Amino acid sequence: STRASTILSALDIPIAAAELPGVYDGQWSGSGDVLESVCPTTGEVLARVRSASPHELHVALEKSKEAYLHLRTIPAPKRGELLRQIREALSAKRDVLGALVSLEMGKIKTEGIGEVQEFVDICDYALGLSRMMNGRVVASERPGHTILEVPNPIGVVGVLTAFNFPVAVYGWNFSLSLAAGNANVWKPSPSTPLCSIAVTKIIAGVLEKNGLPGAISTLINGGKDIGEAIVESRDIPLVSFTGSEAVGRVVGKAVQSRFGKSILELGGNNASIIMPDADLSLAVPAVFFGAVGTAGQRCTSTRRLYLHRAIAPKFLDTLQKLYSGVCVGDPLVEGTLLGPLHTSAAVGVYSNAVQRLRESGADILTGGRKYDQVALSQGNFVQPTITIPKTTDPADKIWSTETFAPILNVCFFDELEQAIEWNNAVPQGLSSSLWTRDLRNVGKWIGPEGSDAGIVNVNVGTSGAEIGAAFGGNKSTGWGRESGGDAWKQYVRWSACTVNFSDAAPLAQGVDFS
Ligand code: NAP
Repeated sequence: STRASTILSALDIPIAAAELPGVYDGQWSGSGDVLESVCPTTGEVLARVRSASPHELHVALEKSKEAYLHLRTIPAPKRGELLRQIREALSAKRDVLGALVSLEMGKIKTEGIGEVQEFVDICDYALGLSRMMNGRVVASERPGHTILEVPNPIGVVGVLTAFNFPVAVYGWNFSLSLAAGNANVWKPSPSTPLCSIAVTKIIAGVLEKNGLPGAISTLINGGKDIGEAIVESRDIPLVSFTGSEAVGRVVGKAVQSRFGKSILELGGNNASIIMPDADLSLAVPAVFFGAVGTAGQRCTSTRRLYLHRAIAPKFLDTLQKLYSGVCVGDPLVEGTLLGPLHTSAAVGVYSNAVQRLRESGADILTGGRKYDQVALSQGNFVQPTITIPKTTDPADKIWSTETFAPILNVCFFDELEQAIEWNNAVPQGLSSSLWTRDLRNVGKWIGPEGSDAGIVNVNVGTSGAEIGAAFGGNKSTGWGRESGGDAWKQYVRWSACTVNFSDAAPLAQGVDFS
């Protein structure tokens, strides 16, 4: 379409080409299988992208190793300078790159732009860190000795990403990892190759301008075989994986089995708890955004709602009004709040989940179907859904699994303790949110008897984290942390270096070996 070609040409992607090369290691290549980028709004094929052949994969990994050997000789503040330039280049293309996210992934325009802004923000953060990635000087028990705890780059970092944040997740990893001195190999989701190509072009432009190897940020588009090769490569000491619990389980085990390190950012199953003293004028819109934003395709989307019985009818009534007024449609059109699901397969997942709810006797308060108006029929549009499942058993699949769609399951409670127990009773532990004005509730919620999630909010919804704080989840969400002040420490190898400045060589702990 004209719209697609306008966006792509503004990002220097030659859409006229029948097939785009999907591999970059300083040069563009791609003679492997074809990946199709399909627009979730119209069903149109936006582009065909060639993935890596086994030979291209091999070459790209070799070039990444060489790029690392070069990069590690560049001082951290100079790497920060690169991040400053990348930040500027990204910023200049922010809105059009955001539009490409909307076009290819399906999230609404403001969210697409917001996602690119996150990449810009973490470049700033990593630029600052590049002058603050400090080790430690430790007092030695031996005279004339000093112990230094030294961070050094770790090598080549593999970054495997999910479809739902096709720009920002690479940004979180790449920025901190580059500041730490590592080359990065990115395997994006096979359904968002255009976003990965656009981001890589921007980064490559800066690297080239500085006379640096492009393989500092290598892109390898492809399917499962590429992901597996990265996971299994002993040349890649650290693998950062963002995706589903099921794949994360396989990736985590495989990396561990070769004694590699992994950062796992897996599925969430996030709850909001509403106490009777909550400010409903704030809580209702926050739950609405948490459940419906990005069509329920955020890892932090609100999927479970625990309502105190005293305010439940009022809360649901107001929430349903917001649901019925949701503006659904083309994510690139101003004013749209709800775009499509990313793939037609995701529509199937949504429909099966709703059917399972129906069969188990759940009350479907609103939604539950695919939109079939003509204007929406070509896209993957589904109605945002609120249900009251019959069962309250947190072990039941309805409550214990993540369905990546806008389905909100509701349940009622009388005591906060009960709600916290349900909040914690699921395998995942990403985000959670309590709405109350009572400090005693807050104290309980953020303390040892409170939420066991990685993100524990008060009067803030489950979605919408900032890059300044650690982001990630506990339990089967994988315990990974990205962004925030300490995340860079995962992208380095630490060495304790004892230096003897004296004329004697005493042993530690007073051991005498003479
Ligand atoms: P996915 O199906 O698990 O895929 C994630 C990535 O893994 C893709 O690049 C995929 O590419 C690759 N992959 C699949 N099998 C692999 C294997 N055996 N070895 C190596 N790589 C493999 O996830 P998704 O559907 O794209 O994303 C949605 C999920 O991501 C949700 O569960 C969501 O909660 C989670 N997520 C979590 C966070 C977080 O920070 N916690 C953030 C965003 C999303 P191929 O399909 O080509 O193999």
